[in-house]
Parts: sequence; C-alpha cells; structure tokens
Amino acid sequence: MEIYYVTTQPDTQGAHEVHTSTCSLLPVEGRRYLGTFPEATKAVFAGRHYFNIVHGCATCCALTPHAN
Ligand SMILES: [Zn+2]
Repeated sequence: MEIYYVTTQPDTQGAHEVHTSTCSLLPVEGRRYLGTFPEATKAVFAGRHYFNIVHGCATCCALTPHAN
C-alpha cells in the first residue's frame, strides 16, 4: 500500500497529477491527500472525485493511464 496525493494546481492541460508520498515530483504545497491505496489506478479514481482531469505521474504511477 502506498500513500497518494493529487496536485491541486493543474498543469497547462488543466490536468492534476497523482503522486505517491515518496515521489520526488510531489509538490510540497498545492497537494491534496487522497489516502492509502493498493494501486495507483485506484488513487487516480479517487482524485477524480475532486478534479475532472486526473492522471497518474509518469514517474511514480507508471502503470496508470497518462495524458494522451
Ligand atoms: Zn510522481
């Protein structure tokens, strides 16, 4: 199980990224705690409760769908 966060600041595409708590790309500010999940895909689904466009980080959530 990993602890996941979603960025509250969208990127230039209007997308929010999901990161694990240990990801080097996780911002210190501008993040929302999602919870603990067995896999990144479930964390991305959780993030979609808050934001319309949510992707897994390519570095720490490599098995999830990414931006087109
Ligand atoms: Zn990440």
